[in-house]
Amino acid sequence: MRLVYDFDERCDAGRALLGGKGLGLAEMTQLGLPVPKGFTITTAACRAEWPPALLEEVDLHLTRLEALTGKRFGDPSRPLLISVRSGGPVSMPGMMETVLNLGLNRSIAEALALATGSVDFAFDAYRRLIQMYGEVVAGIEPGAFVPAESPLATAHAFEQVYLEHAGVPFPDDPRHQLAAAIRGVFASWNAPRAAVYRRQYGISDTLGTAVNVVEMVFGNRDDRSATGVCFSRNPATGEPGLYGEFLVRAQGEDIVAGSRTPQPVAAMADTFPVAYTALETAVGELERHYRDMQDVEFTIEQDRLFLLQTRSAKRTAAAALRCAVAFVDDGLLDRTEAVRRIDPSSLDQLLHPTFDPGARVRIAAVGLAASPGAASGAAVFDADRAAARAAAGDAVILVRPETTADDIHGLIPAGGVLTARGGMTSHAAVVARGMGKPCVAGCAALQVDPSTRTAQIGDVPIAEGDLVTIDGTTGRVVVGAVDLVDPVPNADLELVLEWADDLRRLSVYANADTPLDAERARARGAEGIGLCRTEHMFMAADRLPLVRQMILADGDEARAAALAELLPLQQADFEAIFAAMDELPVTVRLLDPPLHEFLPAPDEVEDDRTRERIAQLREANPMLGTRGCRLGLQWPEIYEMQIRAIVRAASAVAARTGVTPTVEIMHPLVAFESELVRLRELTARTAAEERATGYAFGTMIELPRAALRAGELARHADFFSFGTNDLTQTTLGFSRDDAQGRFLTYYLEHGILPSDPFATLDTVGVGELMRLAVERACAENPHLRIGICGEHGGDPASIAFCEELGLDYVSCSPFRLPVARLAAAQAAVAHDDTSAYVPAGG
Ligand code: ADP
Ligand code: MG
Ligand code: MG
Repeated sequence: MRLVYDFDERCDAGRALLGGKGLGLAEMTQLGLPVPKGFTITTAACRAEWPPALLEEVDLHLTRLEALTGKRFGDPSRPLLISVRSGGPVSMPGMMETVLNLGLNRSIAEALALATGSVDFAFDAYRRLIQMYGEVVAGIEPGAFVPAESPLATAHAFEQVYLEHAGVPFPDDPRHQLAAAIRGVFASWNAPRAAVYRRQYGISDTLGTAVNVVEMVFGNRDDRSATGVCFSRNPATGEPGLYGEFLVRAQGEDIVAGSRTPQPVAAMADTFPVAYTALETAVGELERHYRDMQDVEFTIEQDRLFLLQTRSAKRTAAAALRCAVAFVDDGLLDRTEAVRRIDPSSLDQLLHPTFDPGARVRIAAVGLAASPGAASGAAVFDADRAAARAAAGDAVILVRPETTADDIHGLIPAGGVLTARGGMTSHAAVVARGMGKPCVAGCAALQVDPSTRTAQIGDVPIAEGDLVTIDGTTGRVVVGAVDLVDPVPNADLELVLEWADDLRRLSVYANADTPLDAERARARGAEGIGLCRTEHMFMAADRLPLVRQMILADGDEARAAALAELLPLQQADFEAIFAAMDELPVTVRLLDPPLHEFLPAPDEVEDDRTRERIAQLREANPMLGTRGCRLGLQWPEIYEMQIRAIVRAASAVAARTGVTPTVEIMHPLVAFESELVRLRELTARTAAEERATGYAFGTMIELPRAALRAGELARHADFFSFGTNDLTQTTLGFSRDDAQGRFLTYYLEHGILPSDPFATLDTVGVGELMRLAVERACAENPHLRIGICGEHGGDPASIAFCEELGLDYVSCSPFRLPVARLAAAQAAVAHDDTSAYVPAGG
């Protein structure tokens, strides 16, 4: 097996073998761009841990490099100097090592000084070699190298440092240096920080790094020399034009070391006009070649430009969109490719309020950016107080050491959450992301004492009610108010989403319980409401007494009276939602109560009868108790009331606006065919009493039994909607509230589970049940429409799975709609792609 490839050799070894840096150097060389000459030792050599033939093969390529450059390695009269650079298949910026100026020793440095007429330059290069080599090969601490007054003196001092720490003199044989440097760079693949980085970003430990051996060019040679980095466009906005920095008389990492202040790249136009024009041309060519925004390293040696690295640039979502649109305009990309290139999750950056960019803020602390968006509010230190203050109309930020399931009633009304402890998968982080509200977690500088209702950041005290502002997109925390700005409509985003809409097959609906949600959903492109829950409608202050009366009713008459009062209120709710959605489908789910949430605490009630009734209704495990259709079947008058309210609302809206709503009535928590048959009968009878027609009847599939018996259920339904939140709970036997922030956090932190199954569908477990359900249901009822309305409906990986299952729609919270539209398009494109490889007729 070949272990070494020259930059100018055509080969199809690719990124896996050459690494990103090596591949870029080879591609740039072959495009005819000015790149120093060199070769790449493949990742296979790293994985094979120094195969026997390696040095021999390296030697052959070194000889070729000498011929190409007209220089000789170790020859003082025409010395070839090289860098030995790490570069794995996946970029791990700054994690691995590089040694520059290899091939120098004291006598070659002296010769170089003579030849260039600059002692400073030659010994600056030499002292850098000793230090880098000392760190990478001999493991000497960087702090041991203390510069002296001149480069020459420094080089001599560093030779001494090397001798003292390594126990042997700095090796003056270049070939010895080269072999040791290659070993050192390979070894940096396994350095602890590199391993930690890989774990963090899910990069496999087995990939290994390549090593690039590159002829040196010298930005530190004189005042006509410089080194720099630049992007082909502004990485924050995507505006075209070189964007970056350079530093005169500098080498390698000087630019990021911060010892001198670099100049903006634009200034090169005046001071290095020839190199600047060459850079503009080269970077433009790279962008066109890769059809992507680039991030390059360059060096100028005596006015001549050299490129040392190129890679696709990290950028904000706004910049990514700007580029995608610009590349389509320029004919570099087609719309499909443009849609494919945007990371759907990055859109979060554009969809939430942010600090006003003009606002002057004093950052008190920075924690983990756990859930995007910014929010201001009164600091409150426990969930009860948060709920109380929010009910009184205050905007609140719940500030806790960490949160647990017991804080849920405070999390729901809070505008944002700030915790001192916990990571990205802590309870606060997960719940906040699920609810789409800002969260800064793990803010180590914050101390919270709920018992005294105080907190502190550094020496800044925070009392209950003091204003705090958090930015969950960046992790910033401010004590005080900050002007926030709503996300501005982004024209590039709108355009890319239109292209996505043309590509996707899945419809995208929203989960919306209120007319305001419905309006938001439509503004963000929802094609319907896939889940309109009715529990919240029952919670509102003007309803709760009636709801309690209904539940606690002694007999049918009392219950009927309460229901009669609720009916017009429900009807009004539905009218507003139907009106907001015009003729688009609205799926209303009938009441699925956690009964206890509607009831007063036993010690709040006066009379014994009621207390007794509450005790009767008390459930050991409400999640598996009298929920969903189990309630509706025992007290049919509740569902009857809801169905009446729905169909009456629909005909009222139709009469008023002339637009007939598309109504879908959905029954929750069905497990048995016999349940569904009765529910259908109940629905049909009630609708007939109202002389209503044209509604669709369906059920949630949120219990394993329902998924398994989907064939039977499909005979009685017009549509199914996978309620994957409950389906995940009941399939895994996890109670979500008890899992998140507790054992689930442990599972994620210890790698027992790869991801939160409530955020990303467990496709091989829960997903398998869905697959079975789809197959069995479609075999019985080919007209059945099937969607998903769990929170997974807004998760890109889960959406890809829904595409694979051939579902009809995904439904997600309104603020996730752009993410879902884009992800659905990408899923459709990926799906087409794989089928394109199926041989025709096969
Ligand atoms: P990293 O992956 O950490 O960026 P690099 O291998 O790119 O490490 O090199 C570190 C620095 O040294 C970069 O600034 C790079 O441009 C510079 N450098 C590497 N090889 C050469 C060379 N042959 N001539 C001049 N500068 C070089
Ligand atoms: Mg680099
Ligand atoms: Mg459910």
